Amino acid sequence: LIQLYMPLNFLGVVYREIRQALTDIERMFKLLGENREVADAPDAIALPPGPAEVRFEAVDFAYDAARPILHDLSFTIPSGHTLAVVGHSGAGKSTLSRLLYRFYDVSGGAIRINGLDLRQMTQDSLRSAIGIVPQDTVLFNDTLIYNIQYGRPGATREEAIAAARAAQLEAFVESLPEKWESRVGERGLKLSGGEKQRVAIARALLKNPPILIFDEATSALDSKTEKAIQAQLELAARGRTTLIIAHRLSTVMEADEILVLEAGRIVERGRHAELLAAGGAYAQMWALQQQEELGAALADDTPSLE
Ligand code: ATP
Repeated sequence: LIQLYMPLNFLGVVYREIRQALTDIERMFKLLGENREVADAPDAIALPPGPAEVRFEAVDFAYDAARPILHDLSFTIPSGHTLAVVGHSGAGKSTLSRLLYRFYDVSGGAIRINGLDLRQMTQDSLRSAIGIVPQDTVLFNDTLIYNIQYGRPGATREEAIAAARAAQLEAFVESLPEKWESRVGERGLKLSGGEKQRVAIARALLKNPPILIFDEATSALDSKTEKAIQAQLELAARGRTTLIIAHRLSTVMEADEILVLEAGRIVERGRHAELLAAGGAYAQMWALQQQEELGAALADDTPSLE
């Protein structure tokens, strides 16, 4: 009987593993809203590894032909530089990052990495060159260490812990009874927005890609967490070509170039100080944000009537 039991038990384990992997992939696709119509060209080549220059050339884009979203966008992020995109909700900021990851193909113009059009390269090689720190990180129903190792399948536990340490997750993990083996996700421990972004940064550091996309969380984090995330982001961006989709202007002050998008068009571009001096859309957004922050700080200091 034992001879029968052992293989059956083994098959059971394998089945559970596969089922888990499939649900993870399915969830990932769902959450990323991936468009499965994008396919490799028959003669697609692998993007050679190494430093990457990202270039958008007169890019137009529409999810639906009847409603254009991006109009004639051109910019270059030289290797190792940081470009930040700001603009009101719906301006098309996140769409830029979806196009760079090639969830969709451009409707006009081209996106190139080191001169090679995204449509000429294999999706595998493109995606292994890009690390994404998304707005809302997907956590699988598994251990914390599994969730970090996911950044680079095959990474050792030591490598994952080193990345988590660099993302300043260690103090938090040490406070958990089961430490790295703590279960997270819907059926486990719920992490805060800041902790989840740190898991995403750890994944990106472990992957060690030449290109980094940071889609800042729209939900407000407390100012201490925001500062900490900003510092970790700067660390993760060092030496990488970085695209920041910013919802708060404090994140973009150090960027090499800032693009201000309005209804899918670039209306201003430059560095923080230049844009403030220009007194245009960016300066207005900045003034408004300063007022809001001041208001929030005053509200925090106002004694409660209770
Ligand atoms: P936010 O700051 O609110 O995140 P955003 O500037 O990042 O906004 P995008 O998410 O790029 O804006 O969206 C730009 C426009 O494209 C919006 O009008 C949105 O409704 C539309 N849009 C986004 N995703 C899709 C989609 N999958 N299908 C159709 N339209 C979409």
